[in-house]
Amino acid sequence: MLSGVQVMTQDLTEEQRKLLEQSQETHEFQAETGRLMDILINSLYTQKEIFLRELISNAADALDKIRFLSVKNPEILGDKTELAIRIEINTEEKTVSVTDSGIGMTKNDLISNLGTIAKSGTTQFIEAIKGGNVNLIGQFGVGFYSCFLAGQKVSVASKNTDDDQYIWESQAAHSFAVSKDPRGNTLGRGTQVTIHLKQDAVEFAEESTIKELIKKYSEFINFPIYLKVTRE
Ligand code: ADP
Ligand code: MG
Repeated sequence: MLSGVQVMTQDLTEEQRKLLEQSQETHEFQAETGRLMDILINSLYTQKEIFLRELISNAADALDKIRFLSVKNPEILGDKTELAIRIEINTEEKTVSVTDSGIGMTKNDLISNLGTIAKSGTTQFIEAIKGGNVNLIGQFGVGFYSCFLAGQKVSVASKNTDDDQYIWESQAAHSFAVSKDPRGNTLGRGTQVTIHLKQDAVEFAEESTIKELIKKYSEFINFPIYLKVTRE
């Protein structure tokens, strides 16, 4: 784990936020997704930290995908040849962000991948809850929606080669909004997930807490993880 590395996307200015809000399209979460989010939040509230495990694991998956494609087609990496994960905390703003230079998501990917539930981990998770095995629940891959364990608002900026950079935003509560990123293409390629922490989860914006968790969850991750701490 290294420190002090620059993350490339800066916060939106007031002007940019206005632009963003004007162009936002609102979508409802699929009913099943909404239900899963409620179950997750109610059963894992004592294990909020697993959101970081899920974000690191998604970043690593996205990096694996671009690395796989680059074996046949090295040009696909463009000038973004470093495959890495960057975690940044802002101790004042109480935010945590996880940025990868992986495959990224198009606008349609953001809507379908972060609005519906597809898979395995989550289905098993629901089965485990039904079985009442509460102690083991945190071990399931519960996926992206675990961001709402710690976040009152979650914002995802993403850039895939086939599209412009888009922003997905949600405060849970049944809907999310998608719009073109008014900052343009600041990522080059990849995804940045920013968690605006809930009052009872601000410990995740502390350097010692986040370092501990990165150590815990990076054991099987084959990409470098950098940490940057901002204190203003
Ligand atoms: P899973 O990882 O089990 O597929 P998740 O809920 O964690 O489920 O993520 C849902 C989907 O969202 C992923 O399958 C992937 O398509 C997309 N996704 C999530 N995070 C990223 C990311 N950092 N980069 C690219 N795609 C992502
Ligand atoms: Mg996942």
